[in-house]
Amino acid sequence: MKPEEKARWIAERLQDRYGEIALSRSDPLTTLIGTILSQNTNDTNQGRAYASLVARFGSLDKVKEAPVEEIAKAIRIGGLHRQKAVRIKQVLERIAQERGSLDLSFLAECSLDEAMKWLLASPGVGKKTAGVVLLFSFGKPYFPVDTHIRRVTRRLGLVGPKEDPHERMNALLPRDPMFMLRLHLHLIRLGREICHPRRPECSICPLHDGCGRAAEGT
Ligand code: SF4
Repeated sequence: MKPEEKARWIAERLQDRYGEIALSRSDPLTTLIGTILSQNTNDTNQGRAYASLVARFGSLDKVKEAPVEEIAKAIRIGGLHRQKAVRIKQVLERIAQERGSLDLSFLAECSLDEAMKWLLASPGVGKKTAGVVLLFSFGKPYFPVDTHIRRVTRRLGLVGPKEDPHERMNALLPRDPMFMLRLHLHLIRLGREICHPRRPECSICPLHDGCGRAAEGT
C-alpha cells in the first residue's frame, strides 16, 4: 500500500472504531491560549488552568496587563506554569501591538502559509499550536501533530524516524479539513487508550494488521 493509501485506510479504520465526532468551531484566541496551556499536561488540567485564568482575571485583556507571577499562580494546576505564563503574556502583547486588539479573526482571510507564518512568529508557538488554531478555529487544512500522534504515526510506519512529522503528515493527507480533524482526534484517542508509550495493546488495536510495529511483534 502507498503511504497516501495507508493514511486513508487508517482514517477509515479509526472512523469505524470511534465513529463520527461532534465539533463546533472554537474562538481562535481561546484555542491559542488553551493550546499553550495544554503543553505537558492532560485535558482536565488544561481546562482547569484556563478556567482558573478566566476566574482570576475576568478577560484575556486583563491577563495581558497582569504580572507574569500572577498569571503563573492562576495556571499553576497545569504544570510548567511560569514558562506558560511568560508565553501567554508575550503572545497576548504581540497580538495587541500588531493588531490593535486581541482579535485573530484577520487570519481567516490569510492563505494557509501566511496564517501559519504569522502564528509561528509568536513566542513559544510551534507547528502543533499554530496548526490546532488553524484547523480547529479556521477550518484551514493543516494537520497538527501532538505527542500521541507523533508516536503512533512512527509506529505505523507513516513517518520515518528522522522525518519531521508535520511535514510528512501534511504532505501525505488529503487537503480536507474535516478529514484532518477527524484523524487528528482519532489518533490521539488511539494513543491514549491503546497505543500507549509503553506496552501498546496491539492485540486490541483496530490497526493491528497494517502496523509495522505490531508486525515486528514488539
Ligand atoms: S498495532 Fe500496536 S503499535 Fe501499531 S498502532 Fe496499534 S497499538 Fe500502536
